[in-house]
Order: sequence, then structure tokens, then C-alpha cells
Amino acid sequence: MIKAGILGGGQLGRMLLQQAANYPVETYVLEADAKCPAAHLCHHFVLGDIRNYDAVLDFGRRVDVLTIEIENVNLEALEQLETEGVQVIPKPAVLRTIKSKILQKEFYQQQQIPSPGFVTTQSQAQLQQWVDFLPAVHKLAEGGYDGRGVQLLHSPADFKSGFDAPAVLEKMVDIDKEIAVIMAVAQDGTMAMYPPVEMRVDPYLNLLDYQLAPAALSQKNVWRLEAIAYKLAKAFGSPGLFAIEMMLDRQGELWVNETAPRVHNSGHHTIEAHTTSQYDMLWRILLNYPLGSPQASSPSVLINLVGAPGHEGPAHYPGLPQVLNMQGAYAHIYGKTHTKPGRKMGHVTVLGTDVVDLVRKAKQVKELLTVVTHPSP
Ligand code: ADP
Repeated sequence: MIKAGILGGGQLGRMLLQQAANYPVETYVLEADAKCPAAHLCHHFVLGDIRNYDAVLDFGRRVDVLTIEIENVNLEALEQLETEGVQVIPKPAVLRTIKSKILQKEFYQQQQIPSPGFVTTQSQAQLQQWVDFLPAVHKLAEGGYDGRGVQLLHSPADFKSGFDAPAVLEKMVDIDKEIAVIMAVAQDGTMAMYPPVEMRVDPYLNLLDYQLAPAALSQKNVWRLEAIAYKLAKAFGSPGLFAIEMMLDRQGELWVNETAPRVHNSGHHTIEAHTTSQYDMLWRILLNYPLGSPQASSPSVLINLVGAPGHEGPAHYPGLPQVLNMQGAYAHIYGKTHTKPGRKMGHVTVLGTDVVDLVRKAKQVKELLTVVTHPSP
């Protein structure tokens, strides 16, 4: 039986393991938190830091194929493992490009992938020389996630909120829609594209409010998006799953924002709303089986369950029974014992018909279900 290792034991690892139960595979997880969401679902849980060279090297030597559920892993160890014959998917070279927003932007430029114009900065003081570049978005080169590590700079007065570390200063896009698309690349290079989804962002929290699938795009934009997504997935030159985030501006141009070379939040809905979920797809890639169909079986809406403001401690989910009573609703609680404001604690996918129906259901779920520290509302 093939031995497969996952670096990281969060919710993405958890859902990947739920699907692993259907395949002839022995699973290993490396994670520093023994109570992490994926710990009890794998055959072998290894306690260790995914950023530590020796921990990743020792772990990787125990498996045949290795993947990630988070980018923040020790790359030197993965490169060494690759030379020793362990199959690393995605390839460490891809992770190196993606881990740094500077290298990632340079890669898009070299590959002629449309992505907003940018310059790089090393310190906050350097922002002063880019007054003419405003409005712009300052992005920390490494370590940012979920919008942390991103600052919108409208005028020089905003420079004080810029980063005093290597970063990308990117032209601000006048966003009409935020789109994500997942590409699957098999070991033999065969590719498949999931239908694009549309992310509705909460303007105050700069966090996903809900996500609609499929995205409402003109046929012309779907074709343009498809051309960009296939070109980019091919350019990475590696098997794996690639979640590509794009922005459609008000002039109708598409821009690549960033890529995550792994299973992704924007693909959670594929569990119930698609023929082959992104998790199933990744196992097919890791185990060298044929790709599945990425086709949708129903339109759907995805709502992230995040910790309510002002609540930090043991998690409770009032409203969960009511949500489970909704037709076509599927709840996923990630098993994190403690909630914190903004922490991703679960998600709900609701199947539906059209945009009006899906948005109504998303609002209903958000009203009914909260993540708080006391058992009743
Ligand atoms: P993270 O890696 O933390 O998710 P992103 O690069 O995805 O950060 O940026 C977070 C959000 O900031 C995006 O979803 C988008 O709403 C906004 N954003 C990012 N880049 C731009 C840009 N060039 N113009 C306008 N808004 C942007």
C-alpha cells in the first residue's frame, strides 16, 4: 500500500483524510498540535514542526508521496527528500516560487500571466518614493494569510500602515468580482478545471463573506479565464491542485491575484456539489489514478463559520440544528476545541438553484449559526 504524508493537520488535511478512507493508502500527518483537526483521522500521527528541517526530513523518509495542506513548510527538507526519491506534490520548486509574493509576481510576469503591475519594497521608508504608484496594495512577501499581511494604500497618509519588511507594492484593482478557479494536474500532465466560483468579501473584515458556485461570468470571460488558468497550471510544471485567485475589474479585465498549490477553501463546496471533490481529485493525483470529472452537480453557496467577535474559549455552535434542518445544507465543523474571533471553525455548503436563492440561503445560515463560547444564544 502506498504511504502518503501530509504536512499540516488543519481542516484541509482533515477533509483530505476523510476522502482517503476510500483509497488503498496509508496516511501520515506531521503537525505540532496533537489536538489538530486531522490528528485522529490518519493512520500515523507524527508530532513535529512542519517548518523544522529535521522534522520534515524524518517524516518524509517514512512515506512514498508527500503533500501539503499549508505553504508554510520547510522547503530545504522537501528539496532534499525529492533528491532521495520521495515524490513531493506539488514540486518544491513550485512551493519556493509561491511562498514569496515577490517571486510569485515575478513568475507571472515571466510567464506573461496577467497580474497587476508591481514594484518591490524592502522597508516602510521606501514607500515614500512610490507616491505616483497610488492607489496600491502593500503585501508582505512572506507569512501573510487570510488578508493579514495585506494593506490597502490610498494616499501617502496610509504609508504608516505599510510593512517594514520585504513586500510587493501592487497596483490597486477596481474590483468588480473576485473569482477563484481550481486546476487539477495529474502526474502524466493531464489537466482539468473546476468551474470558477465567485467570492463575496466582507468589506469591513476583508474576509470571505460567502462564495457562490458557479460564478456569474459572461461566456467570453469564462473562456478568457480558462485560457489563463490552463496556461498558468501548465507553467508551474508540476502535478497537483492549483487554486488560482483572480480579480475581474470594472473594465472587464481579468488579473491573477495569487495561487495556492494545494486543496483550498474555495473548493470546499466540491464535496457535495461536484462529481469529484477537490479532495478526491488530489488523491487521484497523489496515487497516480486518472483524474475525476470536475463537473458541478448543483449550484451551491459556501459559508465559512468563523469565531464571533468577543468570544474566545471553548466553542459552541448555537443554531446548528436549525441549519441542519435546511434542505440541501451540509455542515462541516472542524473539531477545533477553542474559538477565537475570526478563526475558521467550520463551513456550511448549501445546494440551491440560482443566485437569488443561494444568497438568501447564505444570509439565513449566517443569521442562524454562530460560533461562540456559551452553549445558548
Ligand atoms: P491573502 O494571501 O492574505 O489572502 P490576498 O493577496 O488574497 O491576501 O489579498 C486579500 C484581499 O485583498 C483580496 O481578496 C482582495 O480583496 C484584496 N486585494 C488583493 N490585491 C488587490 C489589488 N491589487 N487590488 C485590489 N484589491 C486587492
